[in-house]
Amino acid sequence: MPGVDFDVVRREITMQQVLDEIGFEVTHQDGDQLRGPCLVHGSTSKNSRVFSVNLSTQRYYCHKCKSHGNQLELYAAVQQTTLYQAAVDLCHAMGRDVPWIRRW
Ligand SMILES: [Zn+2]
Repeated sequence: MPGVDFDVVRREITMQQVLDEIGFEVTHQDGDQLRGPCLVHGSTSKNSRVFSVNLSTQRYYCHKCKSHGNQLELYAAVQQTTLYQAAVDLCHAMGRDVPWIRRW
């Protein structure tokens, strides 16, 4: 099985695109900092602000379930899959070629 170049995926698919893909709803915005319900643990309140994401650093953090990471890790956490599968699925969802690493 070939590897996936995660650096390329992280460079080419932005946090904003991942948020759109998973259906994140912004309840509060301050510049590049967005807050809203967490899709990882599934906030029950639509007005929740527990989930915090920064579009410039492309990192997220949930103050309730403590899930955190970059956009790829967010997609994997929401889809409950591996980073490998998340990268492949995201590329497909975005209509991009998967940046395979071929070692031969
Ligand atoms: Zn959470």
